Amino acid sequence: MVQTHALDISKIRRDFPILKRDVASGVPLVYLDNAATSQRPVQVIAELTRFYRDHNANIHRGVHTLSVESTELYEGVREKVRAFINAPEAREVIFTSGTTASINLVAHGWGRKFLSAGDEVVISEIEHHSNIVPWQMLRDSLGIELKYIPMLPDGTLDMDAARELIGPRTKLLSVTAMSNALGSIVPVAELSALAKAQGAVVVVDAAQHAPHMPLDVQALGADFVAFSSHKMLGPTGVGVLWGRMELLEAMDPFMGGGDMILSVTMEQSTWADVPSKFEAGTPNIGGVVGFGAALDYLSAIGMHNVRAHELEITDYALRRLADVPGVTIFGPERAEDRGGVVSFELERIHPHDVGQVLDSYGVAIRAGHHCAQPVMAALKVPATARASFYIYNTRDEVDALASALESTNRMFGGAS
Ligand code: PMP
Repeated sequence: MVQTHALDISKIRRDFPILKRDVASGVPLVYLDNAATSQRPVQVIAELTRFYRDHNANIHRGVHTLSVESTELYEGVREKVRAFINAPEAREVIFTSGTTASINLVAHGWGRKFLSAGDEVVISEIEHHSNIVPWQMLRDSLGIELKYIPMLPDGTLDMDAARELIGPRTKLLSVTAMSNALGSIVPVAELSALAKAQGAVVVVDAAQHAPHMPLDVQALGADFVAFSSHKMLGPTGVGVLWGRMELLEAMDPFMGGGDMILSVTMEQSTWADVPSKFEAGTPNIGGVVGFGAALDYLSAIGMHNVRAHELEITDYALRRLADVPGVTIFGPERAEDRGGVVSFELERIHPHDVGQVLDSYGVAIRAGHHCAQPVMAALKVPATARASFYIYNTRDEVDALASALESTNRMFGGAS
């Protein structure tokens, strides 16, 4: 059993200046849209400023002091990511612009080279569009088959169906570790073992996992793992693709250009070693450096403690929202089976109207399909309202959400 300790939330909140601001209606902000993007602490903002103020230069190609410093800072974050996800080697960490770019890199760099007509790619019904559309594009150009592990009514995956779907023709399995729309935690290690038994490559979309609970890429049994900095206190425009070295070495680059070559003649080019092979052009150097500060911040808190706090808040939110008349909560019943995401609807009131009224009370939630339209289709709803939590959220903020929902009911003459 891992020992956890309670987070000092008021101390954490002091690091996030944005949480002190009022919103348009003059009321204090209650930020519950963390599954879309988190806020940034002063430590990350300061690191970005420090980088641009004191060190800024292009990396890998200069002999001057600033370029050497920038390169060291950028490459230092590769090692921080390695430690954060327990990867065997820092060279296996590829910087991208986000989860979407990371998954597309696998689809184009690995998929186009190693998949052909008749091969099967298995994903699930609860994927974010960024883990559906690249595979559909590949299906349309290569003639591969795309199969979906279905979702059960409680938002978890149908594991019996998964056992049947993953078979000898499965060449790749790509699944989310946690649904952004419903919060469902997916048994990735179990799915991974099923795919490995068939010799398939396993891709994990950890966009919602990496920010909220300990991530050990080796324990997941995955070959590729993708996530984004902006959902875990870091800058936008930075993401990670971790891959096993032998797969990274075997696959093709996706983008060609500067920094990813060994040599270029007018006839042909050869590729640089991993990871440069996948980092064509000038990367988001400042963003990566800022991401390093975000990883330091999360590591200092401890990811087990992050998870314990979110479990507590989510459990409270599930109970508190269940008491609001007219609320239907989607997704797994127990907080233990979900991350800090609570998707719901308010009887007879469209989620967009709910979102707008909540904003007038300062409560920021997301209303829509959450880039997971197949989940909405399975639930037979056009959209849901979604509250999602992070390290700085409190029970008082959950109370503010619940009481704003009660006011919404009164305003629309809804359930009471
Ligand atoms: N997958 C999941 C599960 C997500 O929640 C998101 C972001 N909402 C993405 C992928 C895409 O991430 P990004 O927009 O940072 O590329």
